[in-house]
Amino acid sequence: MAERVVEVGVHLSSEEIDRFAARQLPPSEAAAVRRHLLGCPACRERLRASPFYPEQGRREAEILARLKERSGCPEPAVRVAFAADALPPEQHTTVAGHVRRCRACSADVGDLRSLQASARGRGCLPGFRRR
Ligand SMILES: [Zn+2]
Ligand SMILES: [Zn+2]
Repeated sequence: MAERVVEVGVHLSSEEIDRFAARQLPPSEAAAVRRHLLGCPACRERLRASPFYPEQGRREAEILARLKERSGCPEPAVRVAFAADALPPEQHTTVAGHVRRCRACSADVGDLRSLQASARGRGCLPGFRRR
């Protein structure tokens, strides 16, 4: 499957939101969805209201809403990508150095990683086809 990029200005589809809440998106797609959610309160609300894994959707929406710009810190989108181990190696090393020194960023990354950890071991939802 080709890697899809969620375009700025285009909202997430309901299927994307449901599959994201159900943790069924491959990591690259999940990262793109998170980037959109970071900047889009409307889609965060839709995620919060997702009928699948409502608790997970709500927690995710809350954590993303809490990620604010802070001077001297990597952008929220970079923190999200870092937590998902999705940064290029060099940038990863730089951000890792910052996160070790920065209490606020290490709390953000811990929150984001706990979401990913809680996603492991989930099966496939009935009605969704694996691609
Ligand atoms: Zn949106
Ligand atoms: Zn920081």
